[in-house]
Order: sequence, then C-alpha cells, then structure tokens
Amino acid sequence: MESKSILIKNATILNPGEDIKKSSVLIDNDIISCISDDLIHKDADKVIDAEGKLLIPGFVNTHTHLSMNILRGSGDDLPLDTWLNECIWPLEANLTEDICYVGSLLACIEMIKTGTTCLNDMYFNMGSVAKAVEDSGMRGLLAYCIIAFDDETLKKEIKNTNEFTSKYNNTADGRVTTAISPHAPYTTTPDVLKWVRKASNKENMPIHIHVSETKKEVEDIVELYGMRPFEYLEKLGFLGSDVIAAHAVHLSENEIDIIKKYNVKLSHNPASNMKLASGVSPVDKMLKKGITVSLGTDGAASNNNLNMIEEMKIATLLQKVHNYDATALPAEKVFEMATINGAKTLGMDDKIGSVNVGKKADLCLLDINTNYFTPNVNPLSHLVYSSVGGEVSTTICNGEILMENKKLLCVDEMEVFAMAENATEKILSKK
Ligand SMILES: [Zn+2]
Repeated sequence: MESKSILIKNATILNPGEDIKKSSVLIDNDIISCISDDLIHKDADKVIDAEGKLLIPGFVNTHTHLSMNILRGSGDDLPLDTWLNECIWPLEANLTEDICYVGSLLACIEMIKTGTTCLNDMYFNMGSVAKAVEDSGMRGLLAYCIIAFDDETLKKEIKNTNEFTSKYNNTADGRVTTAISPHAPYTTTPDVLKWVRKASNKENMPIHIHVSETKKEVEDIVELYGMRPFEYLEKLGFLGSDVIAAHAVHLSENEIDIIKKYNVKLSHNPASNMKLASGVSPVDKMLKKGITVSLGTDGAASNNNLNMIEEMKIATLLQKVHNYDATALPAEKVFEMATINGAKTLGMDDKIGSVNVGKKADLCLLDINTNYFTPNVNPLSHLVYSSVGGEVSTTICNGEILMENKKLLCVDEMEVFAMAENATEKILSKK
C-alpha cells in the first residue's frame, strides 16, 4: 500500500466522555498517528481545514439489515407479526443477490452521509452485503443469519455460515470481519444455539442475535422452556462477553443480573421498537448498572432510516418520557452509546469508537456554522438534540475519505438510486 497522510487542522474535537478541545489530527495511512496543536501543513500529503467544524469519531451502528433499505416504506403501520408474515417475508422471498447488493449500497450511502463508519449486520445473501461494504469503504461486522428448527436445516445453515465466514472474515483491508448469527431464540432450537457457541469459541468470532424484542416471543419461550429468554440462554451455556443481543426490550430483574454477570453486550434500537410498538428497553437503568448498551437502527423497513444522529435523540427522549425523568439518559451518555459503547459491543474498542492516537482513522466532520449548531455554546447538546444529520460534511473510514464537503467519493449515488428503482420494480412485479 502506498503511504499517505491527512492532516485535519484546527478541529473542535468531541470525544465520548471527554471535554471538548481544539487541536489538529494527523492520519498516517489508516491510523491516527498524532493529535497536537503543533502539526503543520508540510507534515501531510493532504490538509483539511477544520476551522468551524466539529470532529467526532464515526458512529457505530450495532444492529442493521442493510439489504432492507430496498424495502423501505413497505408495510408501515402494521403490528410486528402481520408486518413480518404478510409483508416482509413475502417480499424477502424475491430478494436476489443483486438486489441485496443494491439495497446494501443504498444503506451505506445513507450511513456515510450521516456520519456512520461501522455497522453490525445480519441477513441472508451476505456475500452481496460484504461486497457493498467493501465497495463503499465502510467497516462492518457481518453475519449470515441462521434460522433452523430441525437437524437437516441446521446442517444447511452451518454450511452457509462456514462458507460466508471462511470467504469474508478479515477481508477489505481488515474492514470486513464476520460474526456468527442465530436469528433469535424463537427461530432456532437448543441444538442450533449450542452449535453457535461452540463455533464462536473455535473461530473466535462474536455472536449476533435478536433477544426479547416483543412480549409475545418472551411468552412463547416461557411456554416452551419454562424460563425467560436470557435464563434459557444462560442454561444452554450460550452467554458470554462476545454475545451482541439486539433489542433486549422485555427483561426481568433476574435477566438484567444475568446480562451483567456475563458482560453480554446490548444493541438498543429505539425507533424500530417504537414503530413496531414492541416496548421500551430499560436502557437508563442498565447503563447505571454498568452494562454496555450501544445504539442500532435495525433495518430501514422498521425505522425507516439509518441515521444515528436521529437515533440518539429518539433514544434519550424515549428513556425520559418512559421513566417520567428528564435526567434519564443524558446527551453525553447517548453519545457514548453511539460511539465507544458501539465499539465495545463489537469487540473493537481497541481500534475504533474515539478520536485517539493509535486508533483507526474512522472519523466524521460536521459543519457547525449552521442553524442547528447556532449559538455555538454546547456542540454536544446540538449534536444530540438539535441536529438531524445534515451537517455531516466529511466522513473518513480506515484513513480513506469516503465523503468530502458532502460529495461522496466512493460510489456514484445517482447510479445507485437508479439501480434501486429498477430493483424495486423487479421485487414488486414478482409479488
Ligand atoms: Zn433486527
């Protein structure tokens, strides 16, 4: 690789858990090599003047289904079971590799434009998702989603999982890594989950699973196994600090203790939970107990966007109104959820999640000479409560500039939009 460096001069740096500071940042290849006031132009091949800009770590979206961007706007305002059975699953049956690639590219464009640099995805046709993540320049932890109720299906799903992980783990200059993903306790069996735990240990790969999204699935697990979902997962020997549980809405006190005991990582998806009327996860309470809770958007059919800036506001407002407590989930905590907690959730906090020397250059610059950041007294507050994401001007992942001054450099978005309209016609004509 040809060596290259980028100097971001005079940035206002907002790091999770730290006071705002003004400084310059030097990127050597893919790494933040120096943060100092003394850096000068001749230190770098390229200089970005960040005067009037806010520099933050790229957001980490810890639960996505990128391909579903192609299904955006399908089946709004329906209860979860009707939405899945009558709308989403019949449409998903028409999703080919090509269509999933287009949907995933569409998702990557949206994320880059709103400051996300890393995502955690599970779905099918994952080779297409990996290609889209690679082509877009983003970072992704990706997993083939296993659904199996019998041994024969499990065998097939093991084969699909192994094919995906062996082909894609640690590809795209290390930007694409793989996880193992049973869809949920209610769409698998104890044998599936036991295989997943063993495979995860052997391959040293995280596990990505949906748990306790709805009341009904909790009731179904209680009826089947005589215990609640996290109790069931504990009994199977499934839990560990490498488990990423998405949703975790309906939890007993004992389950919260179990999550804490095994250091299970959670992905909170408030917009999706609200839109599907699933319920409210006790996020404020769990953060206060020291549990790692991060933020995710879920797929674009149940959100309906992948905008982490908007998701932060929704998360904090939901905790406040749910707890009748205006102090619940303050701005600094939800910013941590969207950045460093996301990195911890994916087991990547040594690499990403903050603007620090030695970490990967996954960064984002926002224009603060704009409506939503004026008066410029409290950028963190403006980022969480005021911004809707339009101020993101430059996004960098792994030291590569993916968008500069709002111009995408990695993909031709007009071409992708045209491909998406075309793909949608195909899906709908088959319905
Ligand atoms: Zn999901």
